[in-house]
Amino acid sequence: MAAGRPERAPGAPVNQPIVLSSTFHAGGSRCYGREGNDSTAAFETALGSLEGGRTISFSSGMAASSALVEGLPAGSVVVLPSSFYNFQRTLFDRQVELGRLALRTVDIADTEATVAALDGAALLWLELPSNPTLAVPDLPVLAAAARQHGALSVVDATLATPLGNRPLEHGADLVMHSATKWIAGHSDLVMGVLSTADDELAGRLHERRELTGAVPGALDSYLALRGLRTLSVRLERACANAAVLADRLADHPAVSKVYYLGRDDHPQADRIVKLLANHGGLLSFELNSVEHADQLCARVELITHATSLGGVESLIERRGRYPGELAQGTPAELVRLSVGIEHVEDLWADLAQALA
Ligand SMILES: *Cc1c(COP(=O)(O)O)cnc(C)c1O
Repeated sequence: MAAGRPERAPGAPVNQPIVLSSTFHAGGSRCYGREGNDSTAAFETALGSLEGGRTISFSSGMAASSALVEGLPAGSVVVLPSSFYNFQRTLFDRQVELGRLALRTVDIADTEATVAALDGAALLWLELPSNPTLAVPDLPVLAAAARQHGALSVVDATLATPLGNRPLEHGADLVMHSATKWIAGHSDLVMGVLSTADDELAGRLHERRELTGAVPGALDSYLALRGLRTLSVRLERACANAAVLADRLADHPAVSKVYYLGRDDHPQADRIVKLLANHGGLLSFELNSVEHADQLCARVELITHATSLGGVESLIERRGRYPGELAQGTPAELVRLSVGIEHVEDLWADLAQALA
């Protein structure tokens, strides 16, 4: 991963130096900090080359989503998943309350139902895979259908990572990531990104970032780029760990159901083969009661009971503790585990003692 480095010259730094300045001497290419900074630009160059488009980064994943959603003309119809990242749903709901948007929710794993909802839509929002139940939409078919209907298609691929799936290659107009998660990878910053191969759209999103002031800081951008450079090795370990834990959890008497991209019984197993380069480091599972799920989260000692995902440390939480998540149909006794890069036997020993 060589992209996003300063020009090679004797004595030049190998990494983009962090410049902490909000303003710049007049007459140069940099003018004011809200337009962006060199660390952000270096991160965008690297991620854009990976995604196959132009990347615009934001001060959080939600800021990236907001730049897109709040830029839609009033009266736009949006097709969105009936179950996905719940803050995203709240963002859309607030737009409806303001009289700005109309929503059509669909099961995005159901291709026919999703295509049928596209008539007159301005935007199709997909998650690949969905959070936290890991449903996988048929992206090439849905992106083509959206284009045919004149709707923009956007894929939140946070859980897949840019190494698991590059939605632009499958026909999507935009890909969004919460860079807070796998891309940065160390649970030490909050950032988001949108990437697109459409230069005109990229220009508009860049302007929205400047107008809304949602530019990431230089230090966060530096760390996000540093994280991106080790994504492949972190992910390799997390995926290997998750595969072992998913199998052992499925065999555990306290666990009634496992959601994991690598399981033969995954309802979209055929799409996973075609669309995902790995099975990811995230899995969810159901216990027989909410009390048991809460007990598990309270008893883990190596794994951390905390929200978020994609860090080097394993995180666990019962997603149903959020009312918005329950309202979307997430089972109350479902626990989501973001698998880190610890030793897999240490992770299993921790889960086993906490489940006992
Ligand atoms: C965390 C997350 C977001 C929101 O990103 P932030 O960086 O927390 O604002 C959006 N989508 C998914 C799938 C996420 O996991």
